[in-house]
Amino acid sequence: MKSEKKTLILGAGIAGLSAAWHLRKKGISCPVFEKEGEVGGLCRSKKVHGFTFDYSGHLLHFKNSYAFNLVRKLFREQFVKHERSAWISTYGRYTRYPFQANLFGLPPRVIKECLEGFVRAQKRKRGGSIKETMNFSQWTRQTFGEGIARHFMDPYNAKFWTVPPGELTCEWLDRMIPVPSLKQVFEGANKESKKQLGYNVHFWYPRKGGIEQLPQAFVKSLEHVYVRNKISRIDLAKREIETSSGRRERFDALISTIPLPEMSHLIPGLSKEMRAVFKRLRWNSILNLNLGVSLNGDTLKRHWIYFPKKENCFFRVGFPHNFSSDLAPEGKGSLYAEVSYSDCKPINKQKAISHITRDLKKIGLLSPKDKICAKDINDIKYGYPIYDRHYKAAREKALSFLHKNGIFPCGRYGSWRYMSMEDAILDGKRVAEMLTRA
Ligand SMILES: Cc1cc2nc3c(=O)[nH]c(=O)nc-3n(C[C@H](O)[C@H](O)[C@H](O)COP(=O)(O)OP(=O)(O)OC[C@H]3O[C@@H](n4cnc5c(N)ncnc54)[C@H](O)[C@@H]3O)c2cc1C
Repeated sequence: MKSEKKTLILGAGIAGLSAAWHLRKKGISCPVFEKEGEVGGLCRSKKVHGFTFDYSGHLLHFKNSYAFNLVRKLFREQFVKHERSAWISTYGRYTRYPFQANLFGLPPRVIKECLEGFVRAQKRKRGGSIKETMNFSQWTRQTFGEGIARHFMDPYNAKFWTVPPGELTCEWLDRMIPVPSLKQVFEGANKESKKQLGYNVHFWYPRKGGIEQLPQAFVKSLEHVYVRNKISRIDLAKREIETSSGRRERFDALISTIPLPEMSHLIPGLSKEMRAVFKRLRWNSILNLNLGVSLNGDTLKRHWIYFPKKENCFFRVGFPHNFSSDLAPEGKGSLYAEVSYSDCKPINKQKAISHITRDLKKIGLLSPKDKICAKDINDIKYGYPIYDRHYKAAREKALSFLHKNGIFPCGRYGSWRYMSMEDAILDGKRVAEMLTRA
């Protein structure tokens, strides 16, 4: 990219900040426009009555050494490695995560169905599995068998994604769902196993201040970050953006971390066909309730718990005071509960909040004696892109149209992929390098 070419960055979440930081490293200073009053996007934290709450649990997992070293440098080593303590609440008891490798403690009938199904699936699978042509429901049956599919994979994923598992493709799976060996499944059914499995066996978390320390560390070396600058229009013919306060800026290249479906509202004059493409993108939303409380002793050591059954309205509850003791005042604890919703599964948000508290009490995570000292609600409109049969073609067409017009989407919502914070950082780096090579 020649220095006279003007690049603008839309959105100061972790992806936009990473793009700006990597461009800065190459001596290119790009303005970043952010609609909110502060940077960080989903990686922000709030202080409420002495508690620090993230927008929802945000833990760092690393599979890439560049990302790990960069974050370590940014944090000046002020982040701590934890061994995960993740659980599943089902059939009135807690078992270890992942379900498929930790059947011990479940009712004998359930264990029997899961083991028999797994053995049958292993025998059938000899020919290999073709993830690309299967829907998620078929893949779980082929991989784990009918028992594990019916007792965990179906109910949990239907609750989380808000669409039936048969409507999901397997494009998002990658490393998300660990597949244990036959030996591991039997071992985990016979006794409580402490052997951890999966991509998120460990996580890292800032020693102090919540996850927002990460975007704050990026922003320190950036000069032109403009908060309260919401992009309201992108004029492709003039190559110009406009903010809601009327400010206009010309661009040669735009790095956009704005959620992909929003782009069709920002670009005037899109063809009917292109608008239909953007409309095919679907997502779920997350209603998150953070509570500062006095917790009962049993939950004290846990990091998070999954809830596959309909009888609890949330799909996950986590305990931030176990990520860092700095997040709650002494003698207090904090928890967050997450509920999924979408057009396919609408909710009444007011009722949902009171249902969360009701269900936390029902399962004993809140006792009648517990005093709620702090409360914070986050309604996250764009939670997870839904990988259905239209996902791949619609995403590719949308991205290709934007590329042709000098817009380079990036990050979880810009690129429209199931990304972690680490992935979003690396995606910011990717787009910065792509533009400096051009
Ligand atoms: C419930 C939940 C839990 C998660 N937990 C984890 C976890 O434990 N670990 C992990 O690694 N990842 C987790 N993630 C994923 C992680 O949050 C994302 O990968 C990452 O934050 C994405 O960063 P981003 O910059 O791509 O998007 P965002 O953080 O959404 O940033 C986009 C920015 O663009 C701004 N913007 C939007 N529209 C406009 C506009 N019109 N004009 C100007 N600015 C605009 C937004 O305000 C925002 O600041 C979780 C995600 C969710 C939803």
